[in-house]
Amino acid sequence: MSYYWGSDRRFNSWATYARKKYGSRLQKVSLNAGFSCPNRDGTIGYGGCDYCNNESFNPSYCDPEKPLSEQLDKGIAFLKKRYKKAFKFIAYFQAYTNTYGPVELLERKYREALAHKDIIGISIGTRPDCVNEQIFDLLEKISKTNFVSIELGLESCYDETLEHINRGHTFDQTKKAIQQAADRGLHVSVHMIFGLPGDTGQKMLDQAKIISDLPINSIKFHQLQVVTGTKIADKYISDPQQFNLFGLEEYIDFITAFTERLAPWIFIERFCGEISPEYNLGKRWQNVRYDQVLNMIEKNMEIKNTWQGKYFKSK
Ligand code: SF4
Repeated sequence: MSYYWGSDRRFNSWATYARKKYGSRLQKVSLNAGFSCPNRDGTIGYGGCDYCNNESFNPSYCDPEKPLSEQLDKGIAFLKKRYKKAFKFIAYFQAYTNTYGPVELLERKYREALAHKDIIGISIGTRPDCVNEQIFDLLEKISKTNFVSIELGLESCYDETLEHINRGHTFDQTKKAIQQAADRGLHVSVHMIFGLPGDTGQKMLDQAKIISDLPINSIKFHQLQVVTGTKIADKYISDPQQFNLFGLEEYIDFITAFTERLAPWIFIERFCGEISPEYNLGKRWQNVRYDQVLNMIEKNMEIKNTWQGKYFKSK
């Protein structure tokens, strides 16, 4: 059976789509371009979001002291060795807030990455409250010749949850940034975290409808993890009972139900986060790799005879 997205996979996979469109796997190469974050330096807030420790996902080749071209060389060499295949590559401005700086500086950094012979596009990770018309002008200009994705940290649709985790912005600000990016024709990707304090099962599921009504192209899901060096870790150590962290099987069922309610046209880039054991304070999902989780989710969908958008209702 072929689904809405033209394949027999039970969800609308960004990886499958990109492979078809670009002729090979489209792989992101992480970068640390030396940006900071307004939620850490006091411009918006201090201390950052409660769950954030950039070191926990920053590959060792991402050294902000090194030029972007060198980070890309090392990252691409690492990925080619790891996967033993040739890919097309996207420069992924991942660490901290990658639109936090004067637009001239942003342009210099983005163009520097695009000048690398193996890079065909850029993906810019940022906060919804750290974009403006000038930045969108720049991204729109670059998108005329290269693939440009903006990755916005949406995290939750609920203001009380955003406040609880010290995000420093509201859901209205997220909706505005998404609309502005979509109006410029950019690829809009959002991140969500499930299991945040205060978000119950039904409340989390209800977000599928809210998200589906937004002009987004793709989405990455993460389960809340207790990462060392974060405020969540401090809270967890003092009172673990206040957290209801997902067990692996429970999450597989939850994310299957969420996907059933998600609009079929939204590409799914990731179903869950991965973390190296040394940062995994909660010791959840220890040594479970992303591909294993993905297989479990697809198997669960098959057993339940369900698929992305099965229960999606348009407006
Ligand atoms: S998650 Fe992003 S916005 Fe929040 S503190 Fe970390 S870098 Fe800043």
